[in-house]
Amino acid sequence: MTKFVCDDCGHKFKGMDCEYCATAFTAPVKCPECGSWHTRPSSGLFFSSNKYIYKEIWKTLDEKMNNTEKQ
Ligand SMILES: [Zn+2]
Repeated sequence: MTKFVCDDCGHKFKGMDCEYCATAFTAPVKCPECGSWHTRPSSGLFFSSNKYIYKEIWKTLDEKMNNTEKQ
């Protein structure tokens, strides 16, 4: 388990630590508070510099979600 922080509402929670698409990054977990996928680990090696990287991951996730909804 890893601590996550939601970028949308600031909620902190614990979630599963899964690799994101075979990268060194932890896959975002859905925020239990507001339902957003814009979450990232609140600790760890990449925390100070990972916001830029997670922005790209969130963008990809948003596109995936939009595609799923259209089908
Ligand atoms: Zn949230």
